[in-house]
Amino acid sequence: MEFELKAVLKCSSSLSGAASPSEITEFVTYCNADLLKRGAPPGCGAEIAGWNVAEDKIELKIVSDRFVRAHDALLRLKKELGKLLGKHRIGIRGVEIEDYKIALDWEAEEGLKIRKLPFVREIKQEEGRLELLLDVDESMLDKRIPDRLIRLLEDKRDAVRWKGKSEHWELLFESEQRQFHFDKDPTEEMLKRGWLQHAAGRGQYVYGPQITKIFRAFEKILLDELCTPLGYKEMIFPKFVAWDVWKKSGHAKGIYPEAYYVCTPKTRDPEYWEDVMDYFKVTNEVPVDMIMGKIENVGGMCYAQCPPFWVFLQGKIMPDEILPIMVFDRSGTSHRYESGGLHGIERLDEFHRVEILWMGTKQQAIEHSKVLQEKYRHIFNDILDIAWREAWVTPWFMAQEGKAGLAEIKEAGTIDYEAVLPYSGKWLEFQNVSVNGDKYPKGFSVKLQSGEDLWSGCSGVGLERWAAVFLAQKGLDAENWPEKFRSVVGELPEVFRFL
Ligand code: ATP
Ligand code: ZN
Ligand code: MG
Repeated sequence: MEFELKAVLKCSSSLSGAASPSEITEFVTYCNADLLKRGAPPGCGAEIAGWNVAEDKIELKIVSDRFVRAHDALLRLKKELGKLLGKHRIGIRGVEIEDYKIALDWEAEEGLKIRKLPFVREIKQEEGRLELLLDVDESMLDKRIPDRLIRLLEDKRDAVRWKGKSEHWELLFESEQRQFHFDKDPTEEMLKRGWLQHAAGRGQYVYGPQITKIFRAFEKILLDELCTPLGYKEMIFPKFVAWDVWKKSGHAKGIYPEAYYVCTPKTRDPEYWEDVMDYFKVTNEVPVDMIMGKIENVGGMCYAQCPPFWVFLQGKIMPDEILPIMVFDRSGTSHRYESGGLHGIERLDEFHRVEILWMGTKQQAIEHSKVLQEKYRHIFNDILDIAWREAWVTPWFMAQEGKAGLAEIKEAGTIDYEAVLPYSGKWLEFQNVSVNGDKYPKGFSVKLQSGEDLWSGCSGVGLERWAAVFLAQKGLDAENWPEKFRSVVGELPEVFRFL
């Protein structure tokens, strides 16, 4: 890594009288011999490669390697110079960054194109080398933007490298074969029978009494077999998620292509909205473009269910003896823009989940995940009687941040539960169990009295996915359903008839 920074320090008055040239020369010598080498291995660090004093300005050219990066050198130097000039009653008014060039060793990764980066004016990519011309000011150096840019590039490269490997799916368990009673797409069949109807929104359904009763039966099984015996308590998590939550949960790194965005009016003054109302009244069309100019994005709809829960604990310290804590939420919908991937109730833009969330010490969190896995095995084998499997996959929170690196997490991570759909032969993920490490407690500053790390985990149970899998294997006729499930679901109500 090479850094080359040209900056101008602007002082409060002319330097010619007060600080003698020899004093500045001495300062530069001191910087190059000592100040800008501190913390770097011998022979490394930053260096003032050129300088010039003109009136009230000091022009500097700083070059460096990765040990004392040029922008760090500049900030370091500015502080010391401030002290020196202070003796002459001269202050440093400001720093202007004229030019900042960073060059990295860069083996172009297949499929990775760096076309545009924030705060970068120009990108040059040559054999084994990537050069960035930054467009930054002093405040951005303070915020460590150059370091974050380098980090971002490394993350992008790791993600591409890692995507090329296949180890991010590993079979952990596979159930016995089961007898399938159906070979059609259950959504199609439900539409035929009027169990559900397409709603007005994309990837959205109105669920009729029959399928709703099936969803509720799944919930009851989950509660009776898992939540209640394990001591889970119900909570209600928000379903509108403010940006501040997604900043802390990490979703702000990558959620954009799949988010459902939420906006509020810039004002609730009816006069401000009168033109929109009038337009609708005379055309019967909603003027979406006009609305766009009058609203403000404030966040999105629930995507992963647990992030907004953590605001409940944000900044708190908890006594260790109340651990482990187990809670769940089933208070509302989740929303994802699935684009062209929509498929019946298997892949929706609006879906329903029970989110199971636990926390404890590291050991408790890992242990509890094993207990959950046992309970789930019982439900899928003995009650729903489906053909299913468990696989170790990229942790969902890393996938959702667009990050790679399964190898570095052994104890934390995600298990996906998948089941085969006989009508297509494809496997569908219908839920997961994740140990999220200390990610959330760190992100939301939640601590334990003992100082030990707080860990957490979550499991998202997709009701539509459970239904998709169960009905695809067993069909819609109750006589082919396992007795245990039939006793929970009871008779399906017949309410509507159409002419
Ligand atoms: P997929 O790979 O199928 O898109 P995912 O990895 O995005 O799933 P997660 O983020 O792990 O899913 O979400 C947890 C659970 O939420 C899933 O196991 C599934 O039950 C449910 N789920 C996620 N996306 C959808 C969707 N679009 N429609 C219905 N259920 C969904
Ligand atoms: Zn979660
Ligand atoms: Mg998905």
